[in-house]
Amino acid sequence: MIPPGRPVDEASRQAALAAYRILDTPREAAYDDLVAIATAICDVPMAFVSLVDRDRQWFKAKVGLEDTETSRDLSFCGHALLAPDTLMVVDDTLADPRFHDHPMVTGPPHVRFYAGAPLRVGGGSALGAFCVIDRRPRQLAPAQLAALEALSRQATRLLELHRISGELSLQLEERDWYEQQLLHYQQELEMENADLAEQSTTDPLTGLLNRRAFSHLLDEAIEMARSESTPLSLAIVDIDHFKSINDNHGHGEGDRVLQALGAYLRGQASARGRVARLGGEEFVQLMSGCASDAAVAECERLRTDVTAMDLGIPVTVSIGTASLEAGDDPSSLLGRADAALYDAKRNGRNRVATR
Ligand code: GH3
Ligand code: MG
Ligand code: MG
Repeated sequence: MIPPGRPVDEASRQAALAAYRILDTPREAAYDDLVAIATAICDVPMAFVSLVDRDRQWFKAKVGLEDTETSRDLSFCGHALLAPDTLMVVDDTLADPRFHDHPMVTGPPHVRFYAGAPLRVGGGSALGAFCVIDRRPRQLAPAQLAALEALSRQATRLLELHRISGELSLQLEERDWYEQQLLHYQQELEMENADLAEQSTTDPLTGLLNRRAFSHLLDEAIEMARSESTPLSLAIVDIDHFKSINDNHGHGEGDRVLQALGAYLRGQASARGRVARLGGEEFVQLMSGCASDAAVAECERLRTDVTAMDLGIPVTVSIGTASLEAGDDPSSLLGRADAALYDAKRNGRNRVATR
C-alpha cells in the first residue's frame, strides 16, 4: 500500500478547507441526494462526498459505509486530490500498487473499484473528492464518468453556498455587535452630556443652582409675573463677616457653613424651588407671588432662623429684598436687591432691608 502524498499546495488547501467551515457539520439532504443519485447512475453500492483534512478524510455525505471518517493515509480520495483536474479511476484495486494490499481492499468493505472526481474550488486546489466505489472490478461508461464529474461540481457549488452563507451570517453578527457597541457609546455619551448639563447649571459645593441657571429662571419668572399680573420679589442673602469664619475656623468649616445654609434655604424654598448660589457666600431666593411686605416678612423669619441654627459657629446673614416694578429688567431688579443688601450691611448687618 502506498499512502497518499501531500499536494504541493497543501498549506493553502488546508486554509481553504478551514474557510469553508464544513468539517463535522451535520448531515444535509442536499448532499445525501447527490450521493444517492451517484449510486443509481453508476450502479455502485457506495458513494461519498469526502473532505480531506490534515490527517483524516471526513464524509459530508455517504452511502454504503458506516464510518464518518477514516485516516488520511487510508483514503483513496487523498490520492484523487493530488491531480485536482483529473477524474481518478481505479478499475481494479488489486492491480494497482497503491491499493493492492490496502486493508479496505483485502478486508471490509472490500474495495475493488474506485472513481473519484476532485472537489475543486477557486484557486485550483481540491478539498476532497466525490467518489463512487464498487466491490467488483469494473469500468464506467463515458456518460457515467461525465455524470460523476457533474455531481462533483454540484457538490462543490453546495460547499460554496455553505461558505458564503456562513460568511454572511458572520458579517451580520459582526454588524449586530457594532450596532450594540454604537448604542452603548451613544448611551454613555448621553449620560455624560446629561452630567455636563447638570454641572453647567449646578453649584458643586451646595448642589444649588448656579448664577447662570438662576439668570434663566429670573427671566422666566419676570415674564410669568408680567403675563399673570402677579407680584414677584427676590432676596439676596449674604453671610455676615464670612471672611472671619474662614480666617478663624478654616476654609473647610467655611464650606460646611455654606453647605448648611444652602441646605436650609433649599428646604425653605422647596415649595417654590427657587434658590441659587450667586457666588462666594451670597445666595439668592426668588419669591414668586410675594409682594414687598410679604417678602420682607419671609426674609425676617429666614434671618432669625439662621441666627438660631446650630452650626457650632455663630452665623448671621444680611438680606436685601426688592420687588418687581414696571420698567424693571432682571439686572435692575437684582441691582435694587443688592443695594438693599448694602443698606443692611451699612446699618449693622444681621438685618433685612428693602428697596
Ligand atoms: P460682609 O459681612 O461684608 O459680607 O463680609 P464678608 O467677610 O462676609 O465678605 P467678604 O466679601 O469680605 O468675604 C467673603 C469671603 O468668602 C471671601 C472668600 O474667601 C470667601 N469665600 C468665597 N467663596 C468661598 C467658598 O466656596 N468657600 C469658603 N470657605 N469661602 C469662600
Ligand atoms: Mg458676606
Ligand atoms: Mg458677599
